[in-house]
Amino acid sequence: MKNTPYTGRFAPSPTGPLHAGSLVAALASWLDARAHGGQWLVRIEDVDAPRCSAAAHATILQQLAQHGLVPDAAPVAQSQRSALYQEALHALLAQRLAYPCTCSRKQIAQRLTARAQAPQRHGEWVYPGTCRPPRGQAAAQTPPPHAAWRLDVAACLQQQGLPADAPTHWHDRRLGAQQQCVAHAVGDFVLHRADGLWAYQLAVVVDDAAQGITHIVRGEDLADNTARQIVLQQALGLPQPAYLHTPLVLDDNGEKLSKQTGATPLPAGPAAQTVVNLQNAAAALGLPPAPARTAQQALQHWLPHWARQYRGAYNTPTP
Ligand SMILES: [Zn+2]
Repeated sequence: MKNTPYTGRFAPSPTGPLHAGSLVAALASWLDARAHGGQWLVRIEDVDAPRCSAAAHATILQQLAQHGLVPDAAPVAQSQRSALYQEALHALLAQRLAYPCTCSRKQIAQRLTARAQAPQRHGEWVYPGTCRPPRGQAAAQTPPPHAAWRLDVAACLQQQGLPADAPTHWHDRRLGAQQQCVAHAVGDFVLHRADGLWAYQLAVVVDDAAQGITHIVRGEDLADNTARQIVLQQALGLPQPAYLHTPLVLDDNGEKLSKQTGATPLPAGPAAQTVVNLQNAAAALGLPPAPARTAQQALQHWLPHWARQYRGAYNTPTP
């Protein structure tokens, strides 16, 4: 496995300090990179600037270091990488794969109701394609002010020689064969928001390629983004990384731990506390308790366990 080039990453959003759930994803991505003899990077996903803070950014890096998780290169922040995202949007526009959209949420809802179809997904309307230009016709060269830019999913699939509503298939190293019909389940998703912010999907895909990420290890809550990201990778001619989505940490009510649901920050404290935090994260990943007094000792203890696990359940071959 040493001769397989491997670059992995942990990509937290600095909307608050790390919590128990985010430490699981950080630990899994670190162990997987080290078990492959690979590089481990950290990327701060702060495209949604109003929800992010420089203080949380600094806190997260400090928390990672306290837990022995130190990236192999200086972390990058998405807020500094708009030029790359702009370039990608231009490449999509040049291929007529993106178009401007001025629909408000209300207009989208009305349109769907009028059609007696109101598909919703996580409480969001599936965009009905109101602003999509007819096939073969270029999108407006000068978009109206305050337009969002959307990806023409059907055009992307057809460019790959697939039907407009073809499901996107991928293999997850833990979950196995996965598929999603992006056209139906999500619709033409946003690349650049009307408020001027870059959308998560575009930023992630562009950054993973720019950073040479070969393996994505992240929480299962993000698995649902994978099909959209693959459609974008294909449209931009970018390589597809391998995917491993780790089990979620649930709270006492069986809800996913997240900053939104008020997950408390990881307890800080002496080395013993960081070891306890790591033991909890490792248990969520199915790793045994480590007889360790420091974070370093614990991490080293788990590496061979992870390597065995990844060769088994976490390394079913890519079809
Ligand atoms: Zn629209």
